[in-house]
Amino acid sequence: MKVIKTKAKTIYTKSRIPGVDYGVNQYVGCQFACKYCYAKFICKWKPYGEWGTWVEVKINAPELARKRVYGEVVMSTISDPYQPIERELKLTRRTLEMMNKRNKISILTKSPLVVRDIDLFKLFNEIDVGLTINSFEGKEKQLIEPFTPSQKLRIDALKNLKERGVKNYAFVSPIIPGITDVEEIIRETKDIADYYFFEVLNLKVAGQKFRELLMENFPESYEIMVNDEKFWRFVKELIALIKRLNIRAEGVEVHRRGWELIEVK
Ligand code: SF4
Repeated sequence: MKVIKTKAKTIYTKSRIPGVDYGVNQYVGCQFACKYCYAKFICKWKPYGEWGTWVEVKINAPELARKRVYGEVVMSTISDPYQPIERELKLTRRTLEMMNKRNKISILTKSPLVVRDIDLFKLFNEIDVGLTINSFEGKEKQLIEPFTPSQKLRIDALKNLKERGVKNYAFVSPIIPGITDVEEIIRETKDIADYYFFEVLNLKVAGQKFRELLMENFPESYEIMVNDEKFWRFVKELIALIKRLNIRAEGVEVHRRGWELIEVK
């Protein structure tokens, strides 16, 4: 793993995500190296090699985090703030320490390391901490995201946040027909997740290599993803399932021709 230490000019980047004002990336790049990662487009501008083989560390991120910005801040958009290197560097922790505690902040990770910072989360007026849960196990996990922590560890982290009074959410993503078991995820997390956010795989942004992987190893899933009629039937069934399970869902994000957030009421 290549670690590149840099000094940045800013770590607050104006966000195009609806409802989000700024993205914060103290790291760029991610050791988890998920095959579908939507952030790998950044490789175009970084001369370090393939996605998942390098991490850029903004060593002055804590200092830059002092800057006053106003609005909702999301950590992170092109990295996982609790990827393995964070255990040693504590860069995310030091960045959070310096941030304005009055901003609304939303953190998203796949790592149970996040519970280390619960003491800090409690200092923020408004903070939501999410764990990505997608039920990938065995062969599926090996093919799609071999380096991420297990589902069990992520669910345990969600539980830990809940028990220690930190508002949490389960980010169920990416939902891939026939692979992501949404019903099982909800059954396992219903009593511990404060709310849910769902996202159906964005096949286009996942990239050509991932499309080939899906086509080769999960042809039925691929067929549903590329066939309009089958895709929308799948989404309709997914929404019916979420409604039936009676949970608080912030919506289902769908990428077809553009971005769409389908409300679940
Ligand atoms: S954990 Fe997130 S940022 Fe990291 S590789 Fe996976 S999808 Fe990308």
